[in-house]
This record gives sequence, C-alpha cells and structure tokens, in this order.
Amino acid sequence: MSTKPYDVLVVGTGAAGLTAALTAAEHGASVLMLTKGHAPDSSSWHAQGGIAGAIGDDDTAELHAVDTERAGRELCRQSAVRVLVEEGPERVRELIALGVPFDPELNLEGGHSRRRVSSVDGAATGWAVTSLLSRHAVASERIATREATAVLSLIVSGGRCLGVVTPEGSVTATATILAMGGAAALWARTTNPPGQIGDAVAMAMAAGAAVADMEFMQFHPTVLEGSRLLLSEALRGAGATLLDDNGERFVDELAPRDEVARAIFRRGHAFLDLRSIDRPHFGSLMVEIEKSGFDPATQPIPVSPAAHYTIGGVVTDLVGRTDIAALYAAGECAATGVHGANRLASNSLLECLVFGRRAALAALDEAPLPAAAFPAREFAAEAAPALQERVAPAQLRDQVWRQAGVVRDPAGLAELANSPDPVAAVVARFALARAESRGVHYRIDAPKLNPVLEGHFVLRPGQGLILEQWT
Ligand SMILES: Cc1cc2nc3c(=O)[nH]c(=O)nc-3n(C[C@H](O)[C@H](O)[C@H](O)COP(=O)(O)OP(=O)(O)OC[C@H]3O[C@@H](n4cnc5c(N)ncnc54)[C@H](O)[C@@H]3O)c2cc1C
Repeated sequence: MSTKPYDVLVVGTGAAGLTAALTAAEHGASVLMLTKGHAPDSSSWHAQGGIAGAIGDDDTAELHAVDTERAGRELCRQSAVRVLVEEGPERVRELIALGVPFDPELNLEGGHSRRRVSSVDGAATGWAVTSLLSRHAVASERIATREATAVLSLIVSGGRCLGVVTPEGSVTATATILAMGGAAALWARTTNPPGQIGDAVAMAMAAGAAVADMEFMQFHPTVLEGSRLLLSEALRGAGATLLDDNGERFVDELAPRDEVARAIFRRGHAFLDLRSIDRPHFGSLMVEIEKSGFDPATQPIPVSPAAHYTIGGVVTDLVGRTDIAALYAAGECAATGVHGANRLASNSLLECLVFGRRAALAALDEAPLPAAAFPAREFAAEAAPALQERVAPAQLRDQVWRQAGVVRDPAGLAELANSPDPVAAVVARFALARAESRGVHYRIDAPKLNPVLEGHFVLRPGQGLILEQWT
C-alpha cells in the first residue's frame, strides 16, 4: 500500500463532495471520498426542484443576484453572490454537457423573477445529478470511495489539518475538504436524511475553526404531514395553491419560504391543492404522494413546515478555505455568506457546484505534507480513536424543534443553549444573540428587523459571538 498521503480527502458524497472530487481528479490529484452512509443518504440525492442559474434568454447574472440578495434580507455577502451567479451558468451547462437530462423548459420558483431553475422530471433533479456524478467518480482511476465510514474528528497539528479520524483509524491528505451537508435532521420535523445532524460544525468547532450564521435554519413550508416528503416550490410555481381548513387561500404561494412557512405554522398546517396543475410533469413526486396514501388528483394534500436547509456552517472564504490551514468546506456545511438570512430556492445545488469546484482548485495548491509526519495515508490502526459517532436521539430532536423552531422565544433558546449536543447548543446561542427577526430566524419577542444587527454572528475559538460585516 502506498504510504503517500492522498492529495485531496473529501468528506461527503453529495453534490459538493462529488464536484470537488471530480474537479481535483481532473487536475491529476489522487482523491479519497468518505461518507458515513451510502449515496441516498445525502440531501443532494433527494433534491427535487432543481438548480438555479441564469441561462434563460431573458435572464442575467445581475437579475439572479438581485433576487438572491432580496431573499437574503440585507445579509448576503455580495462577493459570494457575484461568484455564485456569474459562475453558475457555466456549471449548469457543464452538467448538460455531461448528460443530465434536464427538462426542456426552465421552471419558476418562489423569490425568482425569471424562469431559471433547471429540473429533471419536475422533481428528480438531485437524484439525476448525483447519480450521474457518482458514476463519473466510480469511473475515475484517481478517485477512491469508501462508504459507511463516519468521520469522527479532524486531525490538526501546528495549525494545519492533516486528515481525519474514522472508527477504522486515521486517513491523511495534503488537503481535506468538508462537504458534509447540513444539520436539519437535528430538528424533529425535517426534510433531510437522518445523518444530516451538523457533524461538520461539531468537528470544526472542536478543531478550532470558526462557525457562523448558525441561527439561520431554513424551514421548508410545504412538507407532507407525517413524513419528510417535500412538496417543492416548483409545484407552487406551476400553479398549486395553499388552502386553509376552510378551503380559502391565505398567502402568496410564491412569497419567500420564511413568509410562507410562518403563515402555515400559525395555522398548524395547510393543504396544497395540486388538482389544477400539470401533474404528469412531476411524475416521480406524484408517485411518492400516492405511496403516502393521498390522491393528488382528487384531494388537497396536508402540509406543514419542516427544517430544511442550514444556512450557517463552517466559515470559509470564496475558495472554501477555513481558519485551519489545508482544511476546506463547501456546500451546505460551509458559511460563505452567500445566502444571507434566507436562501433563495434552488441556489444550494448551485452553491455545491460553484463552491465545490472552487474549493478543489484551491486545495490543489496546498504544499505537500512533510513525509515524516505521515506513517500511512490510510486507516492507520494505531490511530484508531476512542471517539463515538455523534447521534441525535428523538428527545434531542424534539427539543430542538420546540425551542429553535419556526418561531423562537428567549426562554426556550436559553434552555437549549445548555444542551450537551454541541450543534444544538450553538444554534441556540446564535439565535439568542440575534434578538430580532430576519429572514428565516423569527423571534416572537423581537418580531422586527433591527438594523444594528446587520452582520454575521461568528464564533471563533476562545471568543464570544462577534458580529462581523462580510463584503
Ligand atoms: C428533500 C430535499 C429537497 C431539496 N431540493 C433542492 C432543490 O430542488 N434545489 C436546491 O438547490 N437544493 C435543494 N435542496 C437542498 C440541497 O439538496 C442541499 O443543500 C445540497 O444537496 C447539499 O449538498 P452537500 O453536498 O453540501 O451535502 P449533502 O448532499 O447533504 O451530502 C452530505 C454528505 O456528507 C456525509 N456526511 C455527513 N456527516 C458525515 C460524517 N460524520 N462522516 C462522513 N460523512 C458524513 C453524508 O453522508 C453525505 O454523503 C433539497 C434538500 C432536500 C433535503
């Protein structure tokens, strides 16, 4: 076995991890991808509506930026938005060239002023993209993949990340890219696969990296009651309406997600009426609804909000660099500031493509590791740790849902801030500090936006929360 460390270690096999791995391999790097589950355990696999990108004739990067920043409520980092919207179209075209079978028409989604969302079969985009990228990764001689291998912690020495620790031992690499997704499965009601409980944030904090924006959990308004099946914005873009118990409309269905989520939350639930839309266009989703026991052709479907997208995460610059040398983060686990206080629909798969690629390109420039420090590149048994995989028991998830849910109050947050779970506690600390309502974060005691709090809360090791301006 080679004792040379991998050039690039990618943790996570969702859209960000696959993009990073393929980019690094295309440039000649040896890559190891690790994931704690299997391919369908990523959020990317389940993404539905699509990928935003200004590729329509009537669209421009500027218009996409305006919509992104409007959704983000004065908090988007403008430089990150520029990168996203300017590089986005090229990334979408690359997927088309790779063979992703996008529908011929672009879709309209909430908060977008133009049709700019590329979808597959209406709502099978995530599966189509990640399964295709996975096939390319499998075909690459430079990429090795190991599934069912949870990363437990980062190895950091002298301020540099050297790799990770897994239950089977340690793995070393010149650069490590975290592409570990979000934390929404820490909430009882969620759209995310169960493993998405914020491990990247927990590990990065433990290793001394900064995290930011953890108060901003985006709740998806329309999730089938009693399940995690998301009924995507694209349905509302196609004309589906939201009805109350009396069968009356009560909200602009295409308003930003936070507004729609709160309007439904206040009523407990709502019904999504799909009877008048072109249902065959969303064939796979209709099958899922029917499997859940509902007939979308004859009855409005009961929906309510669920935790969906983690805006906060590990602080990075525009090429994915964290505070720790040779450690990168991309995709949902990163906090680039691109989404501000509210993510625009379908901007997150795009974020994975754009920033996953950028992180890989930057990682390729890392100086090689000093040979003496690395006896083996892979699963060195002597390094096998006594660490346990992080889990989120139902009681914790219920507590997080109650105390850091769609509507928050200081007493509940103060209690949650004492949680032994580091991610639950940090969410509560951030949400307590943000004594205002902005974007996805709603405080019942402070229902208005407070201009004094315009900025990103950042937690750096050994310091309290600091409000920073990101340009
Ligand atoms: C139901 C649903 C629908 C969505 N629809 C859309 C949409 O239409 N458009 C859009 O833009 N976005 C959508 N999103 C959001 C989008 O899918 C995600 O933001 C994006 O896919 C995140 O990709 P990622 O690569 O950052 O992380 P993920 O795809 O979540 O991948 C994370 C990876 O990290 C691994 N991992 C986590 N912890 C560990 C650990 N400790 N050790 C090892 N591996 C670990 C996981 O197993 C997984 O492989 C949707 C999300 C969901 C859940």
